[in-house]
Amino acid sequence: MKEILCKLLVIGAGPGGYVCAIRAGQLGVDTVLVEAGKLGGTCLNVGCIPSKALIHAADEFSAIRGMQARSTIGIRVENCAIDLAATIAWKNGIVGRLNSGVAALLQKASVKIVHGQAAFRDGKTVAVETETGVQIIRAEAIVIATGSEPVALPGLPFGGRVITSTEALSLTEPPERLVIVGGGYIGLELGTAFAKLGSKVTVVEATPQILPLYDSELVRPVSRRLEQLGVRVMTGAKAKGLSSAGDALRIETSAGREEELPSDRILVTVGRRPRTDSSGLEELDLDRTGPYLRIDDQCRTSMRGIYAIGDITGEPMLAHRAMAQGEMVAEIVAGNKRAWDKRCIPAICFTDPEIVTAGLSPAEARAQGYEIRVGQFPFSANGRAMTMQAEDGFMRIVARADNNLVIGAQAVGNGVSELSTAFALAIEMGARLEDLVGTIHAHPTRGEAFQEAAFKALGHALHI
Ligand SMILES: Cc1cc2nc3c(=O)[nH]c(=O)nc-3n(C[C@H](O)[C@H](O)[C@H](O)COP(=O)(O)OP(=O)(O)OC[C@H]3O[C@@H](n4cnc5c(N)ncnc54)[C@H](O)[C@@H]3O)c2cc1C
Repeated sequence: MKEILCKLLVIGAGPGGYVCAIRAGQLGVDTVLVEAGKLGGTCLNVGCIPSKALIHAADEFSAIRGMQARSTIGIRVENCAIDLAATIAWKNGIVGRLNSGVAALLQKASVKIVHGQAAFRDGKTVAVETETGVQIIRAEAIVIATGSEPVALPGLPFGGRVITSTEALSLTEPPERLVIVGGGYIGLELGTAFAKLGSKVTVVEATPQILPLYDSELVRPVSRRLEQLGVRVMTGAKAKGLSSAGDALRIETSAGREEELPSDRILVTVGRRPRTDSSGLEELDLDRTGPYLRIDDQCRTSMRGIYAIGDITGEPMLAHRAMAQGEMVAEIVAGNKRAWDKRCIPAICFTDPEIVTAGLSPAEARAQGYEIRVGQFPFSANGRAMTMQAEDGFMRIVARADNNLVIGAQAVGNGVSELSTAFALAIEMGARLEDLVGTIHAHPTRGEAFQEAAFKALGHALHI
């Protein structure tokens, strides 16, 4: 049996694991990375990147189709069609380029990659099932970055027409009737894309509001757009299982009635659970918080020398959080003094329009005992938004009333995802409202609404 000794072993090459390995390699730490599937994990292969590719294609198609129907800006289009198989091939090409890019970066950082399924033998030893036999790896420090997987609903197991986001991202034809169970960001991003590609989409959400983690003001423009796109949204409704013929979803509506929703595909996006059963973790008996591995502010688990990062450590299950944890743990293993001191983790829904949040919403800030100033500025008063035919939505800033420190920023509107950078920078750098109004924002941009919202919070908006 072959044996490798190293300083750092990273299990899982998603955004958490591969970033950790690259940084550790850059710092001269002798690092081995084990991956059972493809480099890049969920994010790169079946998550962030493929979903955004599909959303982009759907947006382009929908924009061109819109020009067939109404040509307000003078563009005439005769015919257009979508070849989803070609779209998926294009998406796969992007994923392939990024897979190779990650491999090259790991190689440049001198990280050794072992392909196979890792299982703990003890707190310092892991056995990997590789194509050529079992490989034993002993390490001084081990990082668990095994990510998460979709949750199935009881009575609605995956298989046949019941699919996960992974299968939805590889469909080569838009389903005629698509029912989505779960109105969180993954369900709505994909539902919106398929509605634009021509599917008749129904969203079944158990809570009273779609995107239940976001405040209703931010969600309203998204609901309006879903209605325009002909998406049927059923809130307060529960999926019960397949009909006896197997061609419809049985639900209980908010009024308590049983209904059957005929469907060619049923996409279940009710959440993701940490992948804790893939790596022999029961050997270690690490402390947990609910289903997640419990970590401290250095991503240390309850066992010395074992760290955990990314989705396996809980919410928010986002790629950029996993990457930031990975980078930090690499520094710690290399002997540098680091601890988790982030003030905010921005989050984006790539719906139509997009929603971006960073820091605290007004309700969260009040619940934490802050007296606040809130400044809100509508895109209908923003010149760039008008020229982009995207006036729906608004920008909002939350600041402490006593010292004007910005503690939250949110927006809903076309293209606002790119503003997440400005929001996070402002909060992380401790900006005050005066810093935002004192910063020249280039004209004409949607970002000007950020400055205007700050002016508004100070009581003297210029453009409303
Ligand atoms: C459809 C969809 C869209 C998303 N969109 C976004 C988005 O826009 N923005 C965003 O921030 N996040 C998004 N996410 C979430 C994001 O993908 C995850 O938060 C992120 O991938 C988590 O990274 P990770 O490193 O923790 O784990 P993962 O990316 O899940 O990677 C874990 C890796 O570990 C490997 N592994 C597991 N067990 C073993 C083992 N025993 N041995 C060897 N290898 C193992 C797996 O094969 C996998 O490659 C999306 C997710 C989905 C499903």
